[in-house]
Amino acid sequence: MRIEMAKRIDQIPPYLFAEIDKKKEEMRKKGIDLIDLGIGDPDLPTPKPIIERLKKAAENPKNHRYPSYEGMIEFRTAVSQWCERRFGLKLNPETEVLSLIGSKEGIAHIPLAFVNSGDIVLVPSPGYPVYRVSTLFAGGIPYFLPLRKENGFLPNLSDIPKTIAQRAKLLFINYPNNPTSAIAERSFFEQVVAFAKRYQIIVCHDAAYSEVAFDGYQPPSFLDMEGARDVGIEFHSLSKTFNMTGWRIGFAIGHSEIISGLGRVKTNIDSGLFQAIQEAGTEALHHLDTPLPEIITIYERRRDVMVKGLREIGLEVDRPKATFYLWILVPKGYTSAQFAAVLLEQGGIVATPGNGFGEEGEGYIRMALTVDETRLNEAIERLKRIKF
Ligand SMILES: *Cc1c(COP(=O)(O)O)cnc(C)c1O
Repeated sequence: MRIEMAKRIDQIPPYLFAEIDKKKEEMRKKGIDLIDLGIGDPDLPTPKPIIERLKKAAENPKNHRYPSYEGMIEFRTAVSQWCERRFGLKLNPETEVLSLIGSKEGIAHIPLAFVNSGDIVLVPSPGYPVYRVSTLFAGGIPYFLPLRKENGFLPNLSDIPKTIAQRAKLLFINYPNNPTSAIAERSFFEQVVAFAKRYQIIVCHDAAYSEVAFDGYQPPSFLDMEGARDVGIEFHSLSKTFNMTGWRIGFAIGHSEIISGLGRVKTNIDSGLFQAIQEAGTEALHHLDTPLPEIITIYERRRDVMVKGLREIGLEVDRPKATFYLWILVPKGYTSAQFAAVLLEQGGIVATPGNGFGEEGEGYIRMALTVDETRLNEAIERLKRIKF
């Protein structure tokens, strides 16, 4: 029998890292020592108290049964208390908080609740690839909002044609931003609220990096803007905050009808989040400071080592105030893919070509600060030897 994929699978944009992955594999097989700065996944362990709580919770037979799709009330209460402490937000844990199996799960499902076939979804480019794919899976049409350096990597809302805005159902934004590491001031969020109100667009703010911020900077919540809770929701994740990417735990907060729409999709697809993990998440939100000082200090040091080194080599890079990414302009004469190939072949350094995050990422590469300082120093030494 011939197996034919559904059209929605065929329309997923080509996987741009296939070439790099192949080369990486070949080099690894040859025993070449690669420094992988391609991965947006913390190398540091989950804090001990969270692990201890999971161990205990895993023993409890009550936790072995199906969880509720919306999340345990203890977890949602911990979320609402954390949001109040951290952002000054007062949220009703019953109606304005939803647990997620990682925030990616919520981002992937939200268009199914609100996007009809042919509706437009406003998607940043470059951006986290899930916004575009989840739009396509729901039959929506992504309209890309370029994030450019001259505009601080914020989308220029006044550039969006009126006819597009009128057909748009959702707007995805993400600050602190992956992959550009840009941050948003409150004034930008205020513009987003006004725009969303004018055109009746649901705002989905991805705040996965709200707790990975440096030099004392505390990124604001979109929902703290006046009127924001009438137009949007915010996705949060414990993944980057507490080094918990493998655990799969996040949450959505905000407008109760938007939350309940997302919940309706979830009840029909998944059966919620293992309760022992929710208990561990509850422990984290109640008892650990965010941003977590131990990990922030480490990222700050790594950032400083890399930014200094890259600049000495003559590469142009901003010193990020948040996220563990560096968004580096590729030297003249190279595409993103070509420059990434040079770094890999001549230096054994893996970086991500910017165009993998959307066309507007062309001309950049992304490096993740998810390896230790010794290795980053080694990466700089290797970069110094490369001729470009
Ligand atoms: C890592 C990441 C996420 C997803 O995190 P989860 O592990 O699914 O909670 C969401 N958005 C962005 C921009 C990310 O980088």
